[in-house]
Amino acid sequence: MTIERQKKITVALAGNPNSGKTSIFNMLTGASQQVANYPGTTVETKQAHCTYKDFRITFVDLPGAYGLTAFSEEELVARNYIINEKPDVVVDVIDCSNVERNLYLTTQLIEIDVPFVLAFNMSDIARRRGVVFDNGRLSTLLEAPVVSTVGNKAEGRLALLDAIIAVAGADRKPRTHRIIYGDEIEKSLKRIESAIRSGHPEIASRYGSRWAAIKLLEQDNEMLTKISDSPLRGVLDGEVVRLKRIFRDDPETVIADKRYGFISGACQEAVKATVELRHTTSDLADVVLTHRVLGLPIFLLLMYLVFYLTFTVAAFPMAWLEQFFGWLAGFIAALWPADVVNWLRSLLIDGVIPGVGGILVFVPNILILFLAIAVLEDSGYMARAAFVMDRLMHKIGLHGKSFIPMLIGFGCSVPAIMATRILEDKRNRFTTIMVLPLMSCGARLTIYGLLIPAFFRQNWRGPVLWLIYLIGIILAVVAAKVLRFTVFRGETTPFVMELPPYRVPTLKSILNHTWIRGWLYLKKAGTVILVFSIVLWAAMNYPRVEDESLTGKSVEQVQQAQLANSIIGRLGRAIEPAIRPLGFDWKIGSALIGATAAKELFVSQLSIIYAVSSRDESSTAPTLRSHLQADYTPLAGFCIMLFCLISSPCFATVAVTRSETGSWRWAAFQFISLTALAYAVTLVVYQLGAFFIG
Ligand code: GDP
Ligand code: MG
Repeated sequence: MTIERQKKITVALAGNPNSGKTSIFNMLTGASQQVANYPGTTVETKQAHCTYKDFRITFVDLPGAYGLTAFSEEELVARNYIINEKPDVVVDVIDCSNVERNLYLTTQLIEIDVPFVLAFNMSDIARRRGVVFDNGRLSTLLEAPVVSTVGNKAEGRLALLDAIIAVAGADRKPRTHRIIYGDEIEKSLKRIESAIRSGHPEIASRYGSRWAAIKLLEQDNEMLTKISDSPLRGVLDGEVVRLKRIFRDDPETVIADKRYGFISGACQEAVKATVELRHTTSDLADVVLTHRVLGLPIFLLLMYLVFYLTFTVAAFPMAWLEQFFGWLAGFIAALWPADVVNWLRSLLIDGVIPGVGGILVFVPNILILFLAIAVLEDSGYMARAAFVMDRLMHKIGLHGKSFIPMLIGFGCSVPAIMATRILEDKRNRFTTIMVLPLMSCGARLTIYGLLIPAFFRQNWRGPVLWLIYLIGIILAVVAAKVLRFTVFRGETTPFVMELPPYRVPTLKSILNHTWIRGWLYLKKAGTVILVFSIVLWAAMNYPRVEDESLTGKSVEQVQQAQLANSIIGRLGRAIEPAIRPLGFDWKIGSALIGATAAKELFVSQLSIIYAVSSRDESSTAPTLRSHLQADYTPLAGFCIMLFCLISSPCFATVAVTRSETGSWRWAAFQFISLTALAYAVTLVVYQLGAFFIG
């Protein structure tokens, strides 16, 4: 075979000092080395060739480096070689007896997005210490081949050469996963990137704007000199100050923490120590918190605590807010004579205040929930929880982190959907959003609270409630699976569940997180709810009944007549033929339509329809129940609950789905498909039930 017919490959050897680079270099090439200095530096370089299969491979031994930031001359030389000379393959030599530290350089190679092979060198030492590597798993997670080697004994030579030519010959495709640095850092990166693209296109094209932005945040000397006196410098300094204020730490430390979190996550999955090696408190905490058996109960206990806080502590400010809105309505009613611009008065008192107020009373709830989540996230615990849940969630095609929004969904779908932001993968995130409303939220509990005692005997009530919740969960699991195989098809590429180091959360960062999320809830749900409460009010109050026969009737009877005549009442009658097979009549239909704004409204709608006051629950709630008992069978009652559980998410949920998915299409898809599912399930249950019960 002649030289000309051979394909040429250039391979750079990178790795920490003393990881065994030179040994690997010698093992691969034999002794025929040329030693020279890197141009313009005192750093020594060695270069040599070898022939393997059809390839003539040139190896370059890069100086030892812990990272690729310009903190030392060696790191700078190594990185400039990789960026400027663009070797076909980088062999990252890892001292795998000290794997977590050595993989730090690997995270930087991932960031440059250069094709690389991992040589897990010193594998003899690691083996002796009882460390076992799952090379296959590691190579999937890190998206690079992993080969075990013993450099000074020339073990693993052929496997390494095969991996090198495989990577060199493979088509370059972008990596599926990259390290995400968290909301705040990512926000800064985005701003710096856009300043790079507009002010320094040459940097963007040479290094890639994201990589350059990360290096700038890390205060990389070489990159900083390239941008001195440019407006970019101002942007950068502003972001550094902002991040320092939030994290009370240098951005480079936070960035390094994230990289180590990525490494910890990968090692937690693919590196097993058969001999106990772990010593640091963080490692000890991980042994307990991500324990196979203990992990789950600890997680459930913490989640219970979060919910307890959310729903009991928030109950006080919620009650105050409810009182305030009640007082506000009363105050306006007293101030505003009933016969002056009556429609506007009614719009305010019966439409806007209860509608918007009904959403605002959840603000304490949301803030406390978000506060608790921010603490769990910032302390590093949430990553462990996701880790524990990952195996289970993978079975239904979702990511471990999806479990957190689903849990929150038992409280309220709105913050739950917002919490799906922790999911980086879009398909995972959208699937989770779509099935989230099936988690029975707190508002739906008011419906069950009315109907279950009306239709079921004391000892059946608990089990029925449990059954309803269970049906929701099962449907969510099935729906998620179906979605992952149809609409959101695509393989779940396994990726590293990051395990960031534990840290004491800073007040600033927590308040910041809480406030941003709370504000989004107020702004996005609030504006849409305002519009819908006006529309709903109009639909319940128009067209007006102008009937003489109503004079002398009670307020409740007038309301009843008004509702029956209104658009909603008429709509209820119009859809009656369609909902008959479900066991519903027009009254249930109207109440269901009225409850689309918020599920709680179902009960007050029914109260108006049956002309019983919904205000004084203690005396009249049984009356509403007795009306229901007279009109419907327990089967129909169960079907009403079933329909309320599955059907159309409330408008606040629709609004948040829209804003989080960025399109009305997904919101409409969710609304329509869930309602269709509700119809199908309720139809089957009612018809089968009617058939068997008779
Ligand atoms: P470099 O600084 O990365 O170039 O590392 P060297 O190749 O100079 O190796 C440092 C030391 O580790 C030398 O004494 C090598 O003989 C030794 N060494 C290299 N690879 C291995 C290995 O796989 N196992 C063991 N036990 N020692 C190794
Ligand atoms: Mg060396």
